[in-house]
Amino acid sequence: MSNSKKPVEKVPIVYHPGYNIVFWNLEKIHPFDTQKYKRIHKILVSSNLFEAASFHEPTPPTEEELLNLHSQKYLESLKSNTALQRILEVPFVAVLPQILMRKKVLEPMLLQTGGSVLAAELALRYGWAINLGGGFHHAHYNGGGGFCVYADISMMVGQILNNPQNRVNRLMIVDLDAHQGNGPERDLADNNKVLIVDAFNANIYPHDTDAISSITTPILLATPALKRDDQYLPLVQSKILQSFRKFQPDFIIYNAGTDCLEGDPLGAMDLTPDGIIKRDEMVFRMALDHNVPVAMVLSGGYQKKNAEIIGASILNLVMKFNLLEPNRMTSLIYEENS
Ligand SMILES: [Zn+2]
Repeated sequence: MSNSKKPVEKVPIVYHPGYNIVFWNLEKIHPFDTQKYKRIHKILVSSNLFEAASFHEPTPPTEEELLNLHSQKYLESLKSNTALQRILEVPFVAVLPQILMRKKVLEPMLLQTGGSVLAAELALRYGWAINLGGGFHHAHYNGGGGFCVYADISMMVGQILNNPQNRVNRLMIVDLDAHQGNGPERDLADNNKVLIVDAFNANIYPHDTDAISSITTPILLATPALKRDDQYLPLVQSKILQSFRKFQPDFIIYNAGTDCLEGDPLGAMDLTPDGIIKRDEMVFRMALDHNVPVAMVLSGGYQKKNAEIIGASILNLVMKFNLLEPNRMTSLIYEENS
């Protein structure tokens, strides 16, 4: 409430230059902009709302933490390029030296995993946080797939729920990536402190019917009309709000995949850039209106235009909800979006 606002020195946005997968021709072979993280970071910094030093830098999980997250057998399998080829779906991976794989692909993913966990911790302190990476919702204790190697979302959940000081007893995962999540679903199937709402294109990978049973509120987008802004936004909003009211979570993990964007070769959906921005706003509004901390991770969506849209969406959240106002959590009254 003070009028002598101190500039925010650190903001709860997590990024590390090491997130980016720098491979001489990966982008030519895979339909992925593997440097979207760097591009988003650049957009945020050039907004003049932040400085490069405003962001938090994560560290990768330790060996011990990884052994809690994944089976030894799975971690061992990552030493084989054939296994990695299956997870990453990049054919030439099989012939690359393992040391190169580790440095160029696994290390960025490990850093992003550390970034998701750091974002979860920061969300508890600030009320919100965004990792400019992560969201590997196909990875679980015993395996990976669909470009997801490490189960960062399961690790966030563990970090939040296992510490009683966090006072989080009900955690809601809102997964709006175009693909059905099946990593946290497998890892957290028996955890009654976790509720999963997942809206996904029902016609694409992974068709994991076992995992669907662990999604508390599955929102199957099966028709072309449901994949467009005008039907998608009201449907997803009403389902999420319904679940939110019923479950009354103390913490939200938002898997904000942008492969729902029109033109995405993998997501095969038709949301417009404005639809993506409204969608992110809807989730943040729900969390912030109720003072429930929200940690957002970026998940899939690798068209060249995604970085620009994600950057615009984050800036929209920051300005719309006055996220940089130090007293935001207590001083701000949000207008209802009716
Ligand atoms: Zn996806």
